[in-house]
Formats: sequence, C-alpha cells, structure tokens
Amino acid sequence: MFMAHDDSSHYSDKVRVRFAPSPTGQLHVGNARTALFNWLFARQQGGTMILRIEDTDVERSETRYETQLLDDLKWLGIDWDEGPDVGGPYPPYRQSDKLGVYQEHAERLVNEGKAYYCFCTQEVLELQREQALKEHRQPIYPGTCRNLDLDEARRRRASGEPCAIRLKIPEKPIRFHDIVRGMVEFSNEVVSDPIILRSSGVPVYNYVVVVDDAEMKITHVIRGDDHLSNTPKQVALYEALGWPVPEFAHLSTILGPDRERLSKRHGATSVAAFREMGVLPEALMNYMALLGWAPTGGNREIFVPQELVKEFDLRRVTPSPAVFDFEKLYWLNRHYIKESAPERVLTLAQPFFTRAGLLPESSGESVQTWFAKVIALLVPSVNKLDELPERATLLFRYDASAALALPDNAEVMHAATTPKVLDAFAAKIAAEPAPLAPERFKAIVKEIQKETGIKGKDLFHPIRIMLTGTHSGPEFDKLIPLMEEGATLTLPLHVLSVKERVESFRKAQSDK
Ligand code: GLU
Repeated sequence: MFMAHDDSSHYSDKVRVRFAPSPTGQLHVGNARTALFNWLFARQQGGTMILRIEDTDVERSETRYETQLLDDLKWLGIDWDEGPDVGGPYPPYRQSDKLGVYQEHAERLVNEGKAYYCFCTQEVLELQREQALKEHRQPIYPGTCRNLDLDEARRRRASGEPCAIRLKIPEKPIRFHDIVRGMVEFSNEVVSDPIILRSSGVPVYNYVVVVDDAEMKITHVIRGDDHLSNTPKQVALYEALGWPVPEFAHLSTILGPDRERLSKRHGATSVAAFREMGVLPEALMNYMALLGWAPTGGNREIFVPQELVKEFDLRRVTPSPAVFDFEKLYWLNRHYIKESAPERVLTLAQPFFTRAGLLPESSGESVQTWFAKVIALLVPSVNKLDELPERATLLFRYDASAALALPDNAEVMHAATTPKVLDAFAAKIAAEPAPLAPERFKAIVKEIQKETGIKGKDLFHPIRIMLTGTHSGPEFDKLIPLMEEGATLTLPLHVLSVKERVESFRKAQSDK
C-alpha cells in the first residue's frame, strides 16, 4: 500500500492511475472531474495516466459515446499514456475485448474455494429480498449455495443448469485506506456475497474493475464516491485473488445550486454542452479543479493547466460535497476569453455567427478583417462565446420600431430634451458625406451641445438609441466605423450605415 510521506506529496515514481468511463452517455462534469484529478495526480507525480473503457454493459454501451468521450477529454486537454487508441503494456484497454480473462480468474477462485457456483434463480432471490425487507433485515444474499458440495455443483452445471459465480465475503470487517476519507470500514454483515460472473457468462463491474486494476498495476484508484460502497467488495476480491490492494481516493458528489445531486435538471452538465456554449477548455478545467480541491493558503482561483499540475494536492481534496456554481465557471471563462489571443477567439466565435445566420460559411478578407474588429469590440462584455451573436444585434439586426417600443428606452424617449437632440442629429447626419468618421461624429455631437445646451446622458442616450436601439453599449469611436464599414460588405443580413439608421429611426417615429 502506498502512503504519503509526512513532509512531501510525492507518492512513488511508479504512480499509475486510470480513468475508466463506461461509454453509455455523454461525459458529464462529474466524471470529467474524476478524469481531471487522475490526470493532475499522474502528471504531477510523473506517473502514468491510463484510459480504460468499461463496456461490459453491452446493452447500454455505444461506440459513438466512446468516440465522443475521447474527443471531449482531448478537448479539455487531458491526455493519456495508455488506452484503447494508443495501446500500452497491459492490453486490451477495452473490457469487452477480454471477457475470457475474467472467466479464467473466476474459475480459479472457485477452484481455490474462494468463490462458488450459485444456482439461485432470479425469482427466488427476489422473494428472499422482499422477505428480508419486510422483516427489517439487510436484504443481503442469505448464502444458500455457499456450502454446496463442489463436485455436485459441477455436475449440475455440466448438465446445463444455469449458474452464476459468487465470491465468498470473509467473515470479518473489511477495511481500506482512502486518501480523501482516511480509514474506511464496512461490516461484512452488510456486504452480500457478490455475483462476479453472471449465468450468461458476463462478468460484473465490481469484479472486472479489480481484475483490470490489478493487471494494469494501478496504484491509486481515484473515482467518484458513488463507488465507495462498492469498494469493500472490491477489496475482498483483491484479497481473494491474492493481489495487493491499491490506494483509494473517493471524490465527493457534485451538487447543483439547490444542493441536490447535479443533474440535467440544473441545465448544462456535459462537457459537450459547455463546449457548445463557448466555454473554453482551460476555463472548464480550472473550474472543475476547484470542485473539491483548494490550494494551500489563500483563495487563489485562477490556475492555468500547468499551474494546476504544479499546485494540485490529492491530500487536500475534501470529502464534503462540492456545489457547482455556474456563475463562477462563466466568470472564469470571461477571464480566459479576455486572455486569449484574438485570432483564437475569432476562430472559435465564427461558428456561432454562421449558425445564427449572421456570417456566410466562408467569407473574403474584407469581411474577415471587419469581423475581427466586431469580435474585439464585443468580446470583453461576454461570459461565453454563444452570447456574442446576441451582443452583435446592435450591428446586425438594427430595428428602429423595436427600439421605440422598448420599455427600457421609454424614459429617455419621453425626456423633454430628446426631440431636440434627435432633430439636430438627424439634420446634421443628413448633410454629412458618408462614411462618417468618428472625429466627425464627435464634432457633430459637440456642435449640438453648443447649439442646444444639452449635455451628458441627455445628449448621448437619445443618439445611442437612434443608432443602436439601446441606451448603453460599446464606445461610439469603435462602433461607428464598424457600422460604416459593415454597410459596404456583402453579408447575409445587411448592416445599416449611420445614415440608414437615422433614416430608419425617423421613419419608425413618423409611422408611430
Ligand atoms: N465505469 C465506472 C464508472 O463509469 C468506473 C468506476 C471506477 O472508476 O472504478 O462509473
């Protein structure tokens, strides 16, 4: 068993950890956090990260989920040294490819008297279970076939009677060490003799996981605490098979903001969903690392992947549940978006605009140059990239009638000074040659201020509503050239120039 040295977080040069997903659905943040903690620990300890596909549930496992799992992990920046796609010294890395191995070890356990053939039918087991519950007893297997004569059992099996193989749970408490929880003990009275091989010949999770972890020389089993109650059975299996028991670390449950187990009810919970929203992988990785772990001293929250590898400490992982805070994830994402190279954000943002029908599938240099400026202007105000098309409404979907009807604009529109400002501005823009330069815009606004005596937001808010539809938004200096330049480009939706906006606004006002 590996134990931490008191004064160091270094465990062993031979650290071998694994992430062992079942390809039965999307990669959820709970499992992704498990993958991440394994990865951080492996990378930090100079150990080996293994990816193993646990697909013994043939009915629910699908290749497309396996492919997506691998893609999602790679997208997050989690890599592995051994796995179904890269191979390694202990193949195969997909459980369905090694059913024979599990059968062999199960037979060995029977021969050694550590497991036995069980002929109990489903119906009988169900009745016994109901009876136990009625009598307020633990519904554990009563051990009916535990002491069957082995030769007799073999004869029954050879004659075709369906039978499973069960492990004999020893008659003593089962103890194991958990890095997150310390010593854990389960009374053998609450642990049934588990089936390890079903009568169909298909092995069960608790058993295959032990065979694989042992054969793959896993030193630390880091996984979700939904597997804590499986661990005594697995420890009993290691002992029966004569293999060393690894170190365990069970990670706490992730809860939603309402403190119920995080689920689809709470919104996006899969890695794919966050990716589709325009959450950056380093933001998701950073956020997930904080789900149950905190650095020593201080409340630092921003860690790029290399810093996480350096700072992460498995011994500082807390056993209490972690609450998933969507807002904090988005706040981190905003930070990483701002820190990213503009070209990267541009490439990532483009599909959101294409999907929203604002940009063509492919476009020439002039559109690209203009679009880069649009993105640079809007990006500081978003938490996720999927918010960008909405933010770009002020450029792409200018709608004067909607602006006039917007309750939020009512106060400005009803101000006594507003008509004067709008009349003056419209008149000056009509007389102004296009395109309007930002300096000219400034000069015009100054003239209006001088002529009318109106200033500050009484002056700027009506103009902003006239040009963008709302009274707040990005600086005019940057916005005006984008309107003027956008109006000259061929885009799926025409971007209106300043003049067109003013005309459209006047028309909507007179139509009202
Ligand atoms: N296939 C199991 C799961 O996805 C892995 C359990 C384990 O890590 O032992 O929950």
